[in-house]
Amino acid sequence: MIANKTMEAELLKERPEEWRALAKESITRAEELAKHLNISVEEIKEVAGVYPMRISRYYLSLIENENDAIWKQCVPDARELKDDVGVADPLFEEKDSPVEGLTHRYPDRVLLLVSNDCANYCRFCTRKRRIGKPFRKITREQIAECISYIREHSEIRDVLVSGGDPLMLEDSEIEHILKELRSIEHVEIIRIGTRVPCTLPQRITPELCAMLRRYHPLYINVHFNHPKELTPQSKRALELLANAGIPLGNQSVLLRGVNDNPEVMMDLNRKLLKMRVKPYYIYQCDLVRGTEHFRTKVENGIKIIESLRGFTSGLAVPQFVIDAPCGGGKIPISPNYIVKRTKKGIIMRNYENKVFSYPEPEMET
Ligand code: SF4
Repeated sequence: MIANKTMEAELLKERPEEWRALAKESITRAEELAKHLNISVEEIKEVAGVYPMRISRYYLSLIENENDAIWKQCVPDARELKDDVGVADPLFEEKDSPVEGLTHRYPDRVLLLVSNDCANYCRFCTRKRRIGKPFRKITREQIAECISYIREHSEIRDVLVSGGDPLMLEDSEIEHILKELRSIEHVEIIRIGTRVPCTLPQRITPELCAMLRRYHPLYINVHFNHPKELTPQSKRALELLANAGIPLGNQSVLLRGVNDNPEVMMDLNRKLLKMRVKPYYIYQCDLVRGTEHFRTKVENGIKIIESLRGFTSGLAVPQFVIDAPCGGGKIPISPNYIVKRTKKGIIMRNYENKVFSYPEPEMET
C-alpha cells in the first residue's frame, strides 16, 4: 500500500519541463515502434511515408493488447492507403479560407490554425492532409496575417484556436496569440481545441494554467475517445485546467472498433463528467481520405445517444453531429422522440418508449 502511494505521488509530481523531454522522445520511426509492438516495419514505413507517425511514449504505454482501442488510434494501418472513398479536405476548410490558416464559415466565428504539430498523429484525423507535414508548417507571419483578418472583421466574436494542437507551442507563443486576440475588442470568446490532456497530459503544467487564466473568457475543448484514456495523469491535467476556471468540453469521434458501442460511450461520458468535463460533441467520422476503415453507420451514433438519454444525467449526453461534406457545417443528428404531430399537439415517446401527448396552446400566436 505504501509502495503504491509512493508510486502514485511520483507519477503525479509536478515536473514542469517533463513534457518537452517526453515530446522529444516521441516515436516517429517504424524500427522504434517495432521494439514495443509486434508490427510489420515495412507496412508502418509505407503508411507513415504518406501520413506521418508520431506516438508519445506516454500514450503508447496505454496499449494493453494488440489492436485495442488505443492501438487503433495511433498505429499506422495499411488500410489508410487503400481508401478510395475519402477526400483530402472534405469539410472545405481550405476553400472557406480567406487567409492561409484561417477558416471563416459561420457568421460570427472563425477557426484559427496555429500549429500543424501534435503529441500524437491520430490515424483518424480530419486534418490528415497537413498534420506532421513539414511543408504545411504554420509560420508566425501566417498567424499574424490571420489575426489581422480577425481584427478587420468586426462580425467575428468567437475564435477557435486549433491546429494541430495549439498546446504543443511554447507558453510564450500561446500567450502572444491570446494577447493579440484579447486586444481585439469584438472578440468576445476564445476557445482552444487540444488533445494533449489525453495524449501528453504532462504538457498541462501549473505555469501554463496560470498564463491561460489571464485570458478569460477562455474555453477548452479536449478530445477523449475511450475511457482507457482517462488515466490519473489525464485526470490531473483536467483538474489543473478546471481549477484555472476554464470550462471544459469534450469532443469524441465515433470510431469503428474503438468507441462505436453504447457501453463504452456511457463509461467515457460519465467519467468525463466526474472530471469536470462536459461531453460536448460526438462527431460522425468525416469523409477524410485514409480513414474509411474507421467509419461506422450513422445509425450507431443515434443508438448511442438513445442509450444515454434518460439513462444517465443529461449533462453526460453530448450532441451527435455530422460535419457536412463540402463545408455544410455541423448538423445535429438526434433520435426521433416525436411520434406524431397533430393540430392539437404532439405525440412523443420517452427514453423507455412510453408514449405521451403534449397539447399545444389553444391561443394562436
Ligand atoms: S491531436 Fe487532433 S489535430 Fe492532432 S492528429 Fe489528433 S485529431 Fe488530428
